[in-house]
Amino acid sequence: MPKNAILILGDVMTKDKKVLIVLLAIFFILCVAGAALYLTKDLFFSSTPIEKEKTASEILEEQGIILVSKENFTNEANSLLEKGYTADEINNIYEYMSDKNITSILENDYVDLKDFYQISNFDFAKIDRYKAYQALEGIEMKDVVTRVNLNLDEPFYQTIETIENPSAVTVLVNKSHALPSDYVPDDLVSIPSFPSLKIKDDAVEDFENLLVAAKLDNVYIIPYSTYRSYDYQKNLYNGYLKDDPLEVVDTYSARPGHSEHQTGLALDVRSSTHWSNLTDADYEWMLNNSYKYGFIVRYPKDNSTITGYKEEPWHLRYIGVEHATKVHELEITYDEYYDLYLTEH
Ligand SMILES: [Zn+2]
Repeated sequence: MPKNAILILGDVMTKDKKVLIVLLAIFFILCVAGAALYLTKDLFFSSTPIEKEKTASEILEEQGIILVSKENFTNEANSLLEKGYTADEINNIYEYMSDKNITSILENDYVDLKDFYQISNFDFAKIDRYKAYQALEGIEMKDVVTRVNLNLDEPFYQTIETIENPSAVTVLVNKSHALPSDYVPDDLVSIPSFPSLKIKDDAVEDFENLLVAAKLDNVYIIPYSTYRSYDYQKNLYNGYLKDDPLEVVDTYSARPGHSEHQTGLALDVRSSTHWSNLTDADYEWMLNNSYKYGFIVRYPKDNSTITGYKEEPWHLRYIGVEHATKVHELEITYDEYYDLYLTEH
């Protein structure tokens, strides 16, 4: 290679290197400028937040409200917040209260509900009566609620509802629930072993089984008063009024329309050795065994403030095995059981 050629090549290489260095420098400057621009972009451009708009549910959740899958829940929860309920109170309302109560709560001003959340038979419409009755009686609020629901904060026979489904085996007949005066069960049948006495068909087989089981335990039971018509009860009650003042008669006899005997589901029974009552031993057997055949001792002792009647060992009421077993286990009156477990609140 001639010397000149080498010089020329050297020249070319030097030129290319310079270009390369310049290019690298420009690249480096661009990188630094880009990074600087990126890091300081907020100083030069007013940044508008591009956060997604929150949904009504998300806003409620942020306030501590547990979402409920119910149509219109967000509107309801917001309405409760406006009334002054806290998130905690709203959560309790939706955890424990029935839809019917929630509707009432939404229709009314704020009320402190903390005493009532866990009371299943609470009825918002009666809240003032509950408070008044508790102030008077000083008993537990759960008992207050049941008693007021049974109208026991009023004198007996003051508020009377007419029973809509009198033929139901679970029908509640008491001093505030009356049977229509013309109600006669359409399925009355004779008790096979006591053909002159009629009861509702639903109860016959179980009653016969009860008699057989009792006999096996040497308990001899005789029914003596079963189905009684409205007019029969009217004459009976009026007859008692000739001997005793009204307030006394009311403790042992039902006014017409208020007797369970009109349902065909009640039986007065006696021991074979007693005219109109059970011996202590037979009563004991009845208290411990009748539920197995669907019967309860309807007016047990120490419950007259609830039932409105003195103890009646002889008066059995058929409600079916399932409910009789529960009433027996819970040791409560049928009135209380009916309000707690068979009434929609
Ligand atoms: Zn009776």
